[in-house]
Amino acid sequence: MADGCIFCRIVAGSSPASIVHADDAVVAFMDILPVNPGHTLVVPRAHATSLADLPLRTTPHLMSTAHRIALAIQDSPLRSEGTNLFLADGAAAGQEVFHVHLHIIPRFTGDGLRLGIDYDSPPDRAALDEHAATITAALGP
Ligand code: 5GP
Ligand code: ZN
Repeated sequence: MADGCIFCRIVAGSSPASIVHADDAVVAFMDILPVNPGHTLVVPRAHATSLADLPLRTTPHLMSTAHRIALAIQDSPLRSEGTNLFLADGAAAGQEVFHVHLHIIPRFTGDGLRLGIDYDSPPDRAALDEHAATITAALGP
């Protein structure tokens, strides 16, 4: 538990939250300021500030829980014609709560949410190839 972390307090049950799912590794609860009704957050129980802190072994369960919740929302009476799964890692990416969390955002046509950037023109293939090679090298064996 990290001092002053609101999501650690929610996981510990010492701050109120509307819990969707809890198990020994992750907890999912309603976002307090939902983009659309049903907007859910899924977090690891163990505090991790960023992806760099999050053990890789946690990711499959975090993701499969989000996957299950997205399907459950689509099957529920909540309005959901589609879903965005979203994770902000770092302040530059829009992270505001520094305990890793995956957003499950129900979407419907005309809801007004925009996540995209409109590029004037795509980068050329050489640039894409160079970026791919840079990331592959950073991935390591
Ligand atoms: P971020 O920008 O870090 O990806 O998103 C943080 C999210 O946490 C926001 O959508 C915000 O509404 C939500 N949030 C912030 N404080 C609380 C809280 O105390 N309880 C809950 N349930 N959600 C919170
Ligand atoms: Zn925390």
